[in-house]
Amino acid sequence: MICNDQGTLNEMIEAAKNYTQFGKVADYIPALQLANNDTLSVAVYGGGKSCMKAGNIEETFTLQSISKVITLALVLMDHGEEYVFSRVGMEPTGDPFNSIIKLETHTPSKPLNPMINAGALAVTSMISGRTARDKLDRLLQFVHDLTGRKTINFNENVAKSEFETADLNRSLCYFMKQHGVIHDNVEELLDLYTKQCAIEMNCEDLAKMGYIIANEGQDTETKQQIIPHDIARILKTFMITCGMYNASGEFAIRVGIPAKSGVSGGIMASIPHGVGIGIYGPALDDKGNSIAGMKLLESLSAHYDLSIF
Ligand code: GLU
Repeated sequence: MICNDQGTLNEMIEAAKNYTQFGKVADYIPALQLANNDTLSVAVYGGGKSCMKAGNIEETFTLQSISKVITLALVLMDHGEEYVFSRVGMEPTGDPFNSIIKLETHTPSKPLNPMINAGALAVTSMISGRTARDKLDRLLQFVHDLTGRKTINFNENVAKSEFETADLNRSLCYFMKQHGVIHDNVEELLDLYTKQCAIEMNCEDLAKMGYIIANEGQDTETKQQIIPHDIARILKTFMITCGMYNASGEFAIRVGIPAKSGVSGGIMASIPHGVGIGIYGPALDDKGNSIAGMKLLESLSAHYDLSIF
C-alpha cells in the first residue's frame, strides 16, 4: 500500500532527486530564483493521521498555478457551471501557459481553459466579494478549510516580485478587457491574482488539498463536504487534460494521475478515491513542470499501478 511503505518512498525520492540537475528554477518571477535547485520533497496523505513524507519536508513554497484549481472550485461554488463556462472554456490548448495566441485566433476570444494564465485571470475576476480584501480573505479561508491549517497566508515578497514584473499577464488582461471577457481594473485584478499565486504552504498541506479533491470534495474524517461532488469531478478532469501545461498528454500516458503543477516546482496530485500527493521540487523542465517531481510521480504510478486509465 502506498500509504504505509516508507522505505519505498525513501528509495524513490533518492532516485528522483538525481534529475534535479537537469532542471532549472523559474526566473521570470525574480523571487522564485532564490529557491534551491537540488531540493525535493513529497507528502502522501491518505486521510486522518495517515501521512507519509520524504525529503526536505519542512520547506514551504508558493502555489503559483496550482492555485488555479482552487480558485476555479471557489468560483464554481460562487456562480455555478453555466456562468463560469460562459466566460472560460474547457479545452486544452497545447500552448505554453502564458501564451496569448489562442485569445487572438479563437472566436469568441474567451480563454480556452482555466488552467492557462488567461483563463485563470478570468476565473480570479469572478471570485465573489465586496472588496479586493474580501475576495482574498474568502480564498484564504477556503484554503484553510481544505488544509485544516488556519495560519496559511500568501508570501508578500513573492506576490510583490510577480506584481512588479507581470507585464505579460497585464497584456492578457487588457486583451480580455477589450473583448469583454473581464471588466475589472487590471491592476486590482493582478494584485489579487499575484497574491493568490503566492499562497504559501508545505507538501503536507498540498497533499491534503489533493486528498479532498481526490475524494469527491469530502474531508473523510469529519464527513464535511468542502467542495461539491460535481465540482471535484470537474477539477480532476481539468487536472488530467490541462494540469501539466503543454505536457499534459504525455503525463496522462506516462503517469495517468490527475495533477496540477506550478512554476514554483509544486505538484498536487489526486488519485480518485485514494491518496493526495504534494510534491515540491523547484528545478523545472522546459515546459515549467518540476523535473524530479514528474519522475517521482512516474515511479509511484508504475510501482503502485495508480494510472486511472
Ligand atoms: N503566477 C504565475 C504566472 O502567472 C503562475 C504560472 C504557473 O505557475 O504556471 O505566471
